[in-house]
Amino acid sequence: MRSYSLIAPAKINLYLEILGDHLSGEIPQPDGFHEMVMVLQSVSLTDQIDLRASGTDAIRVHCTHPQVPNDASNLAYKAAALMVKRFPDCFARYGGVEITIHKQIPVGAGLAGGSSNAAAVLVGLDLLWELGLTRDELQELGAVLGSDVPFCIAGGTALATGRGEQLDVLPALPNLYVVLAKYRSLSVSTAWAYTTYRQTFGDSYVRRSDDLEERRQHVHASPMLTAIAQRDGTKIGQRLRNDLEKVVLPEHPQVLQLREAFQQAKPLGTMMSGSGPTVFALAESQTHAEQIQAQVKGAIANSDLEFWIAKFNPSGIQIVE
Ligand code: ATP
Repeated sequence: MRSYSLIAPAKINLYLEILGDHLSGEIPQPDGFHEMVMVLQSVSLTDQIDLRASGTDAIRVHCTHPQVPNDASNLAYKAAALMVKRFPDCFARYGGVEITIHKQIPVGAGLAGGSSNAAAVLVGLDLLWELGLTRDELQELGAVLGSDVPFCIAGGTALATGRGEQLDVLPALPNLYVVLAKYRSLSVSTAWAYTTYRQTFGDSYVRRSDDLEERRQHVHASPMLTAIAQRDGTKIGQRLRNDLEKVVLPEHPQVLQLREAFQQAKPLGTMMSGSGPTVFALAESQTHAEQIQAQVKGAIANSDLEFWIAKFNPSGIQIVE
């Protein structure tokens, strides 16, 4: 039986700006789609996904992490089900697949762990079924599963607009280090964060211009993109932004405290990732990262707090065997 193992990296948001709650010309969507400008960065905190042609006619998912479902609600399962639907002849020829997820990326953490797992299944089934899909074709499939999935396929550094699924590759960044921290027992629902943001700040964006060109100029004038073009880690650190902090930090005082402790530790910059509750800090070296981690651990002595030190990852899904 053929098998593949793939490495699926987490991402952080270097920039997350919410422009509005509908795309130009569209009626506001009750299910919470927002028009976004994001800068996404892969990091070297990864899951491993093993795929094996099972010879049965079923998709099966195994993951021992208590918060990850092993049924059809798992994003990796959904990715395989989408491939079965799109390529029924391959499914008939090769049969079902066993998907084993070795989870290291914290769950419900704003690090796109589930999306990255789904991206790995798309890439892996393309190989297992000898489809030869292009990256664009894989990303189109990924967009059906979730707006972070297309980014997770290609990885590296990218500007994401629209609902987050329209990607422009950005120049690879200097090899910065990232210290990540999260309270083990805390997770934040992405849907809750966006709904609360809309309820609280919706008045300020529903009247935005519908002029697409004006919005495009707004995106490209972003100081963060200038800092990235200059590959300047210090400026990147100063220009981090995440609009969702405005709803998540007041709701979770311990995340606010963590964010403040990171700030005190003199990083290049610190921010919450995605809808949280993971907070990250950028560092210029391994030593700098270790100093930041030690200082935050000293400031908040709490055994529920987990830390990781990672590096910027220049790519997305990687095949290991
Ligand atoms: P994002 O940053 O894309 O919003 P996240 O990092 O906040 O994602 P995930 O770790 O992807 O969140 O998990 C969100 C939810 O999805 C959890 O409730 C989890 O149970 C469920 N889930 C389904 N499939 C997976 C998977 N393969 N890995 C992790 N979580 C999964």
